[in-house]
Amino acid sequence: MLEKLKDLELETLVKIEQAENMDQLREIKVRVLGKKGELTGLLRSLGCISAEERPAVGKKANLLREELENAIKLKEQVLSDKMKAEKWEKQRFDVTLPGRPVLMGQKHPLTLVMDEIKQIFLGLGFQVVHGPDIESDYYNFEALNIPPEHPARDMQDSFYITDQYLLRTHTSPVQIRAMEKQAPTLPVRVIAPGKVFRRDDDATHSPMFHQVEGLAVDYEISFADLKGTLLLFVREMFGPEQRIRLRPSFFPFTEPSAEVDISCIMCNGEGCRVCSNTGWLEILGAGMVHPRVLEVSGYNPKEVTGFAFGMGVERIAMLKYGVGDLRLFFSNDLRFLRQFG
Ligand SMILES: [Zn+2]
Repeated sequence: MLEKLKDLELETLVKIEQAENMDQLREIKVRVLGKKGELTGLLRSLGCISAEERPAVGKKANLLREELENAIKLKEQVLSDKMKAEKWEKQRFDVTLPGRPVLMGQKHPLTLVMDEIKQIFLGLGFQVVHGPDIESDYYNFEALNIPPEHPARDMQDSFYITDQYLLRTHTSPVQIRAMEKQAPTLPVRVIAPGKVFRRDDDATHSPMFHQVEGLAVDYEISFADLKGTLLLFVREMFGPEQRIRLRPSFFPFTEPSAEVDISCIMCNGEGCRVCSNTGWLEILGAGMVHPRVLEVSGYNPKEVTGFAFGMGVERIAMLKYGVGDLRLFFSNDLRFLRQFG
């Protein structure tokens, strides 16, 4: 019997020593010291041995229980320390390493120009409104006095989605939407910045570009109001010395219509390569809102008048920053983009 205890002692101590984790240790504890454990079993069988032997065996068994319990406790401590150390090792980081620099973002040059345009017109009492990029044929053409078969449609090679829907070719449909929403309240003073889409792609054209549309409708709005507004805009944008020139032009949705030029910002009107020696640069189209456009939008053209203008944001950014190729704005080259802002 004593020998059996001795064997159990050695065998269990070795197992405890070899245990790699808490689960294994718990298993050993249950198997040896548990209610149905090996040592418990041996103690139960004390009844079968002789009375002389019994006290010695009993004493030894109790000592063994104590010894094993202590050994398990010690091992538990060792394993728990080891786990803590491993956890700490995982979390450890070197506080002496240099930090990673956080790159600061900045606004895209087109956003900068768009923001500046908005600020100028907000200062004049205009509101910023938006319209959908996918527009119906009605808003993009028909309501703007461009019926089917009208030659003006050919000037704007379009991306059609269905027969009735297309990617808007200009921001002018927002004029109609803004008037419809507000009619018959006056005054209407809105600008509509946004993306427009045409089938064009070269150094000065992109299939997607940005326009800002402007519209003012009220009693007694005249062509002089349009000219004054645009002159003020141009001087805010390009400098107080700027002059503008209006040339007669044609747009189906304005009458009369004009192309607006600014004095060349490169040569100050002297004539240079940029302005083809004319001293002028074309920057936008404008005119008095066509009576039919007012009418379809819910205003009486006999009572109210209005002016409208539309400008290309890329064009203005190219002139303002002296950028020669429009595609640079969309090629995402950080060497280019970092020069702004
Ligand atoms: Zn010039």
